[in-house]
Amino acid sequence: MRVHNFNAGPAALPLPVLEQVQTELLDLQNMGMSVMEWSHRSNEFEAINAETEAGLRRLLELGDEWVVLFLQGGASLQFSMAPMNLLHHEARADYLVHGTWGRKALVEARKEGSARVAASSEESGWRRVPRADEFDLDAGAKYVHFTSNETIEGVQWPVEPETNGVRLVCDASSDILSRPVRIEKYGLIYGGAQKNIGPSGVTVVLVRRDWIEPLPKLATMLSYATHAKEHSLYNTPATFGIYMIGLVCEWIESHGGLKGMGERNAAKAKTLYDQIDSSDFYRGFAERDSRSQMNVTFRLPSEELEKLFADEAAKQHMVGLKGHRSVGGLRASIYNAVEPGSVEALTAFMREFEAKNG
Ligand code: PMP
Repeated sequence: MRVHNFNAGPAALPLPVLEQVQTELLDLQNMGMSVMEWSHRSNEFEAINAETEAGLRRLLELGDEWVVLFLQGGASLQFSMAPMNLLHHEARADYLVHGTWGRKALVEARKEGSARVAASSEESGWRRVPRADEFDLDAGAKYVHFTSNETIEGVQWPVEPETNGVRLVCDASSDILSRPVRIEKYGLIYGGAQKNIGPSGVTVVLVRRDWIEPLPKLATMLSYATHAKEHSLYNTPATFGIYMIGLVCEWIESHGGLKGMGERNAAKAKTLYDQIDSSDFYRGFAERDSRSQMNVTFRLPSEELEKLFADEAAKQHMVGLKGHRSVGGLRASIYNAVEPGSVEALTAFMREFEAKNG
């Protein structure tokens, strides 16, 4: 039996993709072995690598000026790798900070170069993204970093921040491929696959070709130039994850691409926020204009009730609803693969729970 999976990551994957993986697990393409057992140097794996890249290019409408990389080390390594590769020759970066992951990205960037806070929403208790009138942008910055969706607080940018032509660097770990993006505004987008597009172990990095430079002093493995030159095959990549991302891209295309995904995700989020807003029993954590379509964070009148809620929900096969240990409360992660039916099951449970305990 499959549960209603509200895990924050690793998270739900599309059932048709898992079923396809299952049928192909013992023998993919008549090779007599699973993709995990293929050589990453085989022509067959190179074809899969290229197909997955092509899938991402189609969905995001990436032109030739973009390089697609499949790396390891998670988004956490990109907190360092991005500034290592971009902040040389005295370059400076601006960071827009509105939650846990953005703060971590900033800490790592400061170890590598000149990075400053151009806006923060700390005074709101991290309940919203910074407002445009709070921006203090450096017009000469190499990039402006932002976290498109703060997974722990459940706070998401409704649209990309306006940066007067300075390119964006985005940690899109928890909303990558969940809605359309204005790709022309970006210089670099990175994210772990494990929430919206695949299993853990692969980090997708999309970077503008004109930002890639050979940096002889930088460790070979930490240089985008190394991986770009070798199409992510400089060393052994996470082959299984790359194969699965390709299948998830096809599944997203079959749902109308990013536009279709965006509409489906917005509808799921609305169902859940409408339920939260329908009474005082549930209180949403994020301010309305910054509410995440991916991680719906909310509180109940007491911590005891929150614990009871998560325990009772689990009995009804709804898992992963406990909030992050750093902030408490409850969190329903409703990434791409979470079906509308799972969200409806949750809202039905919320009504039932409130009637009993409200
Ligand atoms: N950024 C965001 C927005 C995240 O949600 C996470 C993981 N939860 C990370 C970065 C860290 O990702 P990883 O575990 O892949 O390093």
